[in-house]
Amino acid sequence: MIKNSNFPIEMELVLATHNKDKCAEMAAILGEYPIDLFTLERFPEIGEIIEDGNSLQENALIKARAVFKQTHLPSWGDDTGLEVDALGGEPGIYSARYAGESCSYSDNVNKLIKNMQLIPEKQRTAQFKTAIAYVSENMELVSEGVVEGLIATMPKGVGGFGYDPVFYVPEKGKTYSEMNMKEKNQVSHRGKAINNMIILLQARLPHIFHQMEDIA
Ligand code: IMP
Repeated sequence: MIKNSNFPIEMELVLATHNKDKCAEMAAILGEYPIDLFTLERFPEIGEIIEDGNSLQENALIKARAVFKQTHLPSWGDDTGLEVDALGGEPGIYSARYAGESCSYSDNVNKLIKNMQLIPEKQRTAQFKTAIAYVSENMELVSEGVVEGLIATMPKGVGGFGYDPVFYVPEKGKTYSEMNMKEKNQVSHRGKAINNMIILLQARLPHIFHQMEDIA
């Protein structure tokens, strides 16, 4: 379990990922609700989930459905892609494996910087997109979050993960890596997708996803 609710528990929710960085960001927002959160570490019997969808939404649904099927607990799948305009939308749904099958975050960042070497500042535009799927016994929901940014010419900042050191958010004048987690969640693709999903869930499960003013 990655988070014990501070409130009487109303729900158990499984985050359909092994990625600790993403889990930490999701837990920081979902921790406000009376939910116990689990990751796939709690369910070692769930093997690799093949993400063979054609879009972020499809992949998020594939993950949430697979985990719900095996755990019978409400499950939350997410998928993220960085779309760089000058690269025709690459790396997109291949963001995790951009520099090869078992590449590191910095391999991906280095490949991106190299491929963007000759691209002038005005043309370095990119979007970070996250899709989230929620699957339970009687519900399937999908939300999205998008942020526009620029790809920096060199890494900046020490926080975050993945492409954060080169994803510059003009509205903040910083890369994601120069933000702390709270700041990043306030502006990020994932933060927006999570909040959009919470809005969908508030309408359907109001006793769990209450408006924050309700518990003040
Ligand atoms: P995933 O398919 O959602 O796991 O994301 C694919 C890849 O995108 C990850 O392996 C990371 O390299 C990158 N990524 C996902 N979310 C973020 C983020 O918030 N910041 C930077 N990179 C990210």
